[in-house]
Amino acid sequence: QAKSLGKNRYALHSTDTLTDLMGDSILEMDMRRALEQNEFILYYQPQLHSCTQEIVGLEALIRWQHPTLGHLAPNRFISLAEENGYITKIGEWVIAEVCKQNKKWQDDGLKHIQVHVNLSSQQFNKTNLVQFIEQTLEETGLKSQYLGVEITEYIAMEDESSINVVRKLKEIGIAISIDDFGIGHNSLHYLKHLPIDFIKIDRSFIADMMKDQHNAIIVQTIIDLTHNLGMEVIAEGVETLDQLEFLKDHNCTIVQGFVLYKPLPAKEIRKLLQVE
Ligand code: C2E
Ligand code: MG
Ligand code: MG
Ligand code: MG
Repeated sequence: QAKSLGKNRYALHSTDTLTDLMGDSILEMDMRRALEQNEFILYYQPQLHSCTQEIVGLEALIRWQHPTLGHLAPNRFISLAEENGYITKIGEWVIAEVCKQNKKWQDDGLKHIQVHVNLSSQQFNKTNLVQFIEQTLEETGLKSQYLGVEITEYIAMEDESSINVVRKLKEIGIAISIDDFGIGHNSLHYLKHLPIDFIKIDRSFIADMMKDQHNAIIVQTIIDLTHNLGMEVIAEGVETLDQLEFLKDHNCTIVQGFVLYKPLPAKEIRKLLQVE
């Protein structure tokens, strides 16, 4: 829960051990080299239409191939990068890499598809995000309709300037998703004021949905809310066939999760976009 501890970089997590903390400072030093050494890599997880099973989007998810520690998941280094500010550079690399990769798939005659990038709140206030994205789209030649951003409720609520950035991104044609919906701020006020395309139901609701009647009702209600507001809904973390069936029966249009596809390297995605 590093995120909820906000900007206090000295806050300790109850589960931290001494080795974790020493590990963090080693990772912090290594992070500065990692971009130059090409140690970051993107995996892509398909998002499917629940009825047709057609791939309608991809979510880009970063991994770090550390020279000695091996394959590191984002929860091992993203909050650290947010605390030390390095997330700005990493985030720019992710955007550039996604645009290049997607344009390459298109140039190779594969299915044209929207790819969604996760953004941290620091990318909103410390950098000229809109300008960077516009410039990257121009340099790579990717059309803006093939790029999406995922933001959390926290960013959507944060302040007027973040909200303006979201509006600008929408104006240039980029899709906006609200990630992890339902576990952040409990005000729904921002739903009226932001140009949102997709709401992603947090996977904690999906995980318990078949056992916990309350979660099933919450999921159904989010699906209805989203559709009534003219937005699309995505269920994340779909792990079982009965969850998939339930979501389909309750008109959840888009599904993403291990029962369909795990996040895959670009090479594997290439094959999926060919057969479509
Ligand atoms: P997220 O954006 O909510 O991404 C979904 C996470 O759920 C991913 O974990 C994905 O691998 C995992 N997942 C997908 N389907 C299932 C499933 O069926 N079951 C389970 N248990 N998990 C599933 P991952 O790749 O470890 O990423 C974790 C988080 O790290 C992401 O959560 C996102 O907040 C952050 N992240 C990932 N890439 C980036 C990035 O490029 N930039 C930033 N700022 N954050 C990123
Ligand atoms: Mg996401
Ligand atoms: Mg999510
Ligand atoms: Mg998440």
